[in-house]
Amino acid sequence: MGHGLTPHAAIIGAGPAGAICAWTLAQRGWRVTLLERAPFPRVKVCGEFVTPAATDILEGILPEAALLDAGARRIRRVELFAAGRARQWQMPAPAWALSRASLDTLLLAQAARAGASVLSPASVRDVEYAQDAITLRLADGATLAAEIIIHADGSGRFDPAGALAPAPGLVGMKCHLNLPPQGDLLTMRAAPGAYIGTVSVEGGLSTCALVARKSLVHAAGGDGDQLLATLWPDFRPAWRQGDWKASSVPRGPYRTPGHPRSFRIGNAAAAVDPVGGEGIGLALWSGHTLGVLLAKAEPTAASLACVQLAIAAAYHRRLRVRRLGCRLIAEIMMRPRLAGLLWPVAASPEISLRVWYGATGKSLATSAKQL
Ligand SMILES: Cc1cc2nc3c(=O)[nH]c(=O)nc-3n(C[C@H](O)[C@H](O)[C@H](O)COP(=O)(O)OP(=O)(O)OC[C@H]3O[C@@H](n4cnc5c(N)ncnc54)[C@H](O)[C@@H]3O)c2cc1C
Repeated sequence: MGHGLTPHAAIIGAGPAGAICAWTLAQRGWRVTLLERAPFPRVKVCGEFVTPAATDILEGILPEAALLDAGARRIRRVELFAAGRARQWQMPAPAWALSRASLDTLLLAQAARAGASVLSPASVRDVEYAQDAITLRLADGATLAAEIIIHADGSGRFDPAGALAPAPGLVGMKCHLNLPPQGDLLTMRAAPGAYIGTVSVEGGLSTCALVARKSLVHAAGGDGDQLLATLWPDFRPAWRQGDWKASSVPRGPYRTPGHPRSFRIGNAAAAVDPVGGEGIGLALWSGHTLGVLLAKAEPTAASLACVQLAIAAAYHRRLRVRRLGCRLIAEIMMRPRLAGLLWPVAASPEISLRVWYGATGKSLATSAKQL
């Protein structure tokens, strides 16, 4: 597609998945409308660490110079605190850290620069599906017709197959802290019923994100400072800059779209426990992969069906070990004594990290060129 007959794709949601998909399709001559309900820049509950496995694909849309200009930090080491002990690893390849307010705004600007029409703020209320056409209804009463719909809204609730349910019993929280700069270090802390990540981002701030059991959040009366003080004894509320934000924790296997002209990417397609900074990488990878596949397809039902099968197969390969691996590590991180007992397994940290990246299919050469 994309040549002569240019189909019109509507993408719901301008997070990393929607923005890179819009960029990829617009670059290949597609008519793309990207609809985003939040005025950008917007805050998102996220640890703001982009896995080394996504470095190439991120730098494919945002060159290193643009990332550095925005204040993004190169992350090269990870430190794990569990059961009163700390251990440091060198990452097998450098990663990035940048606030989602800045990162998502930069990605959206790249999509617009490539020719995607951006409607924001524009909240999708409802989607009507006919055999060959799709109609989106917006909160302000406007409608938009499209031939292809791509769900990148973080849940997929407008796809006939329905929304991905969040992980039961877990809450995600995030704030920015005024900590001494951590340099190129990502810190992960194991705590009873929770895990916490901190990393330096732009503006001299550090991002603090945590996943905690709901019972702990309730016991702290929903107060992030109180919760963090129980999980991280050194934490001082005076470090906090700005408010705490809370969200559910998306988690689930790949969900097949419920209509032949419907596609799902990012958290609207599948989500793993956010213990290894996986989500942005998966969002970028899936958005770019779908864009490349669609742009090569013919505007026929058979060709679109092939794209649906190809993206499903790619997801299954990518998540086969990773979903289970992230689940297991998240469960261990919420049991610091068990994490402490497992220290000997991490006897050679660099090798463990390489094995983890290999076993989870996160080739460190996941470059845009290879797709
Ligand atoms: C506590 C926590 C920590 C995390 N830490 C990390 C981390 O350090 N690194 C990492 O890689 N991942 C992390 N993640 C996961 C990561 O945040 C997500 O995987 C990632 O944001 C998914 O990107 P996306 O583009 O699919 O969706 P999103 O980023 O959720 O974007 C969806 C967009 O759709 C828009 N939208 C929703 N509904 C509508 C509508 N009706 N109309 C129009 N627009 C709509 C939203 O406003 C939003 O901008 C973390 C998650 C949690 C909960």
